[in-house]
Amino acid sequence: MQISLDNLLEELSGLETITNPTQVAKLSEDYAHFSPVLIPLLAGKVGDVVVRPSNESEVLRIAKTCVKYQIPLTVRGSGTGNYGQCTPLMGGVILETSRLQEIKWIKAGLACVETGVKMVTLDKKAQEIGWESRMVPSTVRSATVGGFIAGGSGGIGSVLYGQLRDRGNLRAVRVVTLEDEPRVIELRGDDVQKVAHAYGTNGIITELEVPLAPAYGWAEYVVRFADFMTAARFGQALGNSDGIIKKMISVHSAPISNYFTALQSYIPTDSHCALVLVAESDREPFKSLIQEFKGEICYEKSPQEASKGISLVEFSWNHTTLHARAADASLTYLQSLFLNDPKLELVQQMYKHFGDEVMMHLEFIKVNGVVIPAAIQVVRFTTVDRLNEIIEYHESQGVFIANPHTYILEDGGMKTIDYDQLNFKRQVDPYGLMNPDKMKGWQIK
Ligand code: FAD
Repeated sequence: MQISLDNLLEELSGLETITNPTQVAKLSEDYAHFSPVLIPLLAGKVGDVVVRPSNESEVLRIAKTCVKYQIPLTVRGSGTGNYGQCTPLMGGVILETSRLQEIKWIKAGLACVETGVKMVTLDKKAQEIGWESRMVPSTVRSATVGGFIAGGSGGIGSVLYGQLRDRGNLRAVRVVTLEDEPRVIELRGDDVQKVAHAYGTNGIITELEVPLAPAYGWAEYVVRFADFMTAARFGQALGNSDGIIKKMISVHSAPISNYFTALQSYIPTDSHCALVLVAESDREPFKSLIQEFKGEICYEKSPQEASKGISLVEFSWNHTTLHARAADASLTYLQSLFLNDPKLELVQQMYKHFGDEVMMHLEFIKVNGVVIPAAIQVVRFTTVDRLNEIIEYHESQGVFIANPHTYILEDGGMKTIDYDQLNFKRQVDPYGLMNPDKMKGWQIK
């Protein structure tokens, strides 16, 4: 930094700041430790100060200070990202959004919130008028709306509504720029894609307009099957059953459910099972489908019961990896899409090929109107070379890998430079101060 920390704090006087090194180090981390590749790359990467603005004017003031002294700025929501997305690689200011907490308005089908509103808070408020978020990450209890949009991809609800990037799943954003005179820009329509899933590299989102879905009473089930492929085919059949409203279909090969300590009294050891959220009113056709696949229900909770205790949501998506790693910290994971595999032949091939080394965990989601299996496999890690070999084998067979072992935006799920996002960065962050070194395209002059 070209300015001492004391002088910087003076510039930011009146704003809430944190300088305690232990706290700043904690607020420089996310869940990148799920990846043995990322741990050494991110070790020791910390910010200099955390600033917590309480309104957009304070965000503008922080932006102006960072530009004036050419200080890197990294935005942080709740820090539940998986790829070091909010870890500052070059120190500087961490702008934490937890005080930007206002729900501006909610009406049928739409809500407008400040970026730091938690997904769970938005849902509780929307449910009062019969609506809820279209999709939430399994970190719904802690993740912020802005963090989900800037760093996430989809989650519980994606089987009905697709992914965050699909047109319509984000309506508008307000963004603070890091120009010499920072200003607020509002993006609507397809323009929102300029900042969605950009890891906070091209503007500070302060406010978002998001669509909502009708809120159903979601009953929760665990159903076990004779073998993994029957569980997977059940998942696909449920995904294809347009007459049964469901929000989550999470399928696990044995021994993954053994890692679900809190569910151990319900799920027999070494079960192949599906964790499902289904509209309570569709219980009857759902049970007929279970019968067809000779499944056995081993856990059943009404929406009222599910809202009180544990929710199956927190065993799905990357919470599966979290539970597995709690039992064995050497485990890691992969993220895959089986984009053209309606008969699940490729799923079966990968399951057989890798056996216990790559434990199959499927999440069914809608892609371009078709329900497909995405996978967040639990991987027994040995070496980085072997991990890369596993990735290469999947890709050579036609499985799309969104690599979770990189902090570079383009090297994860995107694979190419998004020139709309890059050009927007050139406009709103001309000095390249925002989350430096995360966007590969920025290196191209
Ligand atoms: P953070 O981690 O704080 O930030 C994420 C990114 O967004 C960072 O690059 C940050 O700089 C940027 N950012 C945050 N706020 C702003 C802002 N206001 N303006 C500009 N940029 C900003 N992801 C999914 O998509 N689906 C899942 O189901 C899912 N499950 C998960 C389960 C576990 C156990 C874990 C650890 C992670 C999971 N994730 C999942 C990843 C992560 O939880 C989500 O992406 C989450 O929504 C991030 O929210 P956050 O508030 O923690 O954001």
